[in-house]
Amino acid sequence: MNVIWAEQALTADGWAKDVRVEVGADGRIASVTPDSPPVGHCVGALLPAPANSHSHAFQRAMAGLTEQRGASKSDSFWTWRHLMFRFLDALTPDQVQAIAALVQMEMLEAGFATNVEFHYLHHQPGGRAYDRLGEMAERIAAAAETSGVGLTLLPVHYQFGGCDQRPLAPGQVRFGNDPDQFARLIEASRAALGTLPADTVLGVAPHSLRAVSQEDLRRAAGWVAEGPVHLHLAEQIPEVEEVQAHWGARPVDWALDNLPLDPRWCLIHLTQMTPKETDTLAKTGVVAGLCPLTEASLGDGVFDGIRWGDAGGRMSIGSDSNIRISLAEELRQLDTSQRLRDHSRAAMATAEHSTGRRLFEAICHGGAQAAGRGSGCLEVGGWADLLALNTQHIDLEGLQKDTLLDSFAFTGDNRMISDVWAAGRHLVQEGQHIRRAEITNAYRKAVRTLRDGL
Ligand code: ZN
Repeated sequence: MNVIWAEQALTADGWAKDVRVEVGADGRIASVTPDSPPVGHCVGALLPAPANSHSHAFQRAMAGLTEQRGASKSDSFWTWRHLMFRFLDALTPDQVQAIAALVQMEMLEAGFATNVEFHYLHHQPGGRAYDRLGEMAERIAAAAETSGVGLTLLPVHYQFGGCDQRPLAPGQVRFGNDPDQFARLIEASRAALGTLPADTVLGVAPHSLRAVSQEDLRRAAGWVAEGPVHLHLAEQIPEVEEVQAHWGARPVDWALDNLPLDPRWCLIHLTQMTPKETDTLAKTGVVAGLCPLTEASLGDGVFDGIRWGDAGGRMSIGSDSNIRISLAEELRQLDTSQRLRDHSRAAMATAEHSTGRRLFEAICHGGAQAAGRGSGCLEVGGWADLLALNTQHIDLEGLQKDTLLDSFAFTGDNRMISDVWAAGRHLVQEGQHIRRAEITNAYRKAVRTLRDGL
């Protein structure tokens, strides 16, 4: 039994003082007792640690390298696409494992307990399967064994280069499977997770409406008996136009009419929705998987968080391209995007709760749902996914309760975080991951060889 004591903690019943939390050997919260004397590992403010609900780990190695553009002003994706394809001609399983471990370590240091990995880099350069079909899934699992992060692995089905079912472009062949091979890949992924702890989850992800047939999209939720189902949806205007041209409906309208949407589904981005789509989709119980820093970086558009929240919509945060992994900065970008659009302030606050409190609790609950993980709340029986804020930090001096969360979200960054536990594994201590040196050394070696080979 591990014992944590916090000056203040955000429990299932709201804020409490002098809270003693016991964590069982099974990684679950065994007791939560306010008004207790200090004992065990003492921290400032204890919060549930949310899941990071959307990541493509390998893209972390491209961060900061895609800020030039081609001669034509309209081709603003040029460097991103060009570099991505060069990376995809080179990445080895060893490199992918080292990059994934760094991403998971950075997620933990940012306050996330779980990496929901939307994993689509399956095959060798040129598109041939590895001798073991699940080789790359094994590498993500091996990274999680090193980092200790809670892992929800989503093997991704990716078959076509567009809604017209054109073949994959050379840069996409490492992602591709037909439905039969993908069914085998799901089983190989399940086997790859075999040695990981009991909080590990297997879900599935049809990549997008452009990459998967209508028939496979309709049956995707049946590919795994339980576990989350994730799908990129309504991210950019050209995607909306392509789906409309070929399938006769906007992406969200098509999904509402054709998919068995329920709380197992997490729809990633949703930055291109009409007000009516927003209202209707929010009521299905799906999670909106938001990636505010990546969506801003790629110029995707602004998710309508105010309308979605007013309609009772659920939401989670992911770091997607992993250009920057920061829980505080994602929350800030989410609310700031609404302010810039509407010329407002404290956009997603409610009459009861401040912006920071409202967003933080929303993404803890939504993140747990999106990860298929029994957590998201500081209560007995849930996984002990916990983060502690250092209340000695200069910007948190003397702050309490919701104001503390607001300061974390609107002035803070990863440096405010002192400790993180994933299912009771105490992985971040004094602000640093316990295997930081080993993981960063392996990453440096991997990107040096990768970049030398480009
Ligand atoms: Zn994505």
